Amino acid sequence: MNIILLGPPGAGKGTQAARLEADRGMIQLSTGDMLRAAVAAGTPVGLKAKAVMEAGELVSDAIVPALIGERLDAIGSAGAIFDGFPRTRAQAEALDLLLSERGRKLDRVIELEVDEDALVERITGRFSCAVCGAPYHDRFKRPAVDGTCDVCGSHEFKRRPDDNEETVRTRLAEYRAKTAPILPYYEERGLVSRVDGMAPVDEVAEAIEATLDSGH
Ligand SMILES: [Zn+2]
Repeated sequence: MNIILLGPPGAGKGTQAARLEADRGMIQLSTGDMLRAAVAAGTPVGLKAKAVMEAGELVSDAIVPALIGERLDAIGSAGAIFDGFPRTRAQAEALDLLLSERGRKLDRVIELEVDEDALVERITGRFSCAVCGAPYHDRFKRPAVDGTCDVCGSHEFKRRPDDNEETVRTRLAEYRAKTAPILPYYEERGLVSRVDGMAPVDEVAEAIEATLDSGH
């Protein structure tokens, strides 16, 4: 099975992709990870991508499909979870071709839907222990004793600088802009399923499994 997993940053895409990898032996093909790996390894495609990124430009429609083709050839018969690709209609068409050339097809596009205000609260409330990294949340998971880490007793906590409302809203807007060109392409073919990304992690995973098993 080959699927595209869509969802804004913070929707839990990474967690769900990891579950699918563990439960179904699928492999996540994250464009960002693949690009970094190819650049680090200095492959021909990686060198091309590096030059483009250093010029401050977006990696082109030609480079990313080449990377994905390489990766698809490497994963054998395992199902693929596409993450971060396609982002344009041209890339969506390129993906169809990449898959059909390998006797594969796209089975499902799963979008993790979020309530944007709730997501902003979820993300901006998170913080972690500066010593052991234990995760906390202003509203959902405060330390048992205020200002003291439950795990290691440290009094130092930290927040990621990009976990602020303005940044999160910008990322959400970017996500909408990125998916807008491709969702209709897949909707026309009846491939899109929507899952409530705000539900607890296990429920989201079950909903995704049900979608994959039933094919809608
Ligand atoms: Zn700690």
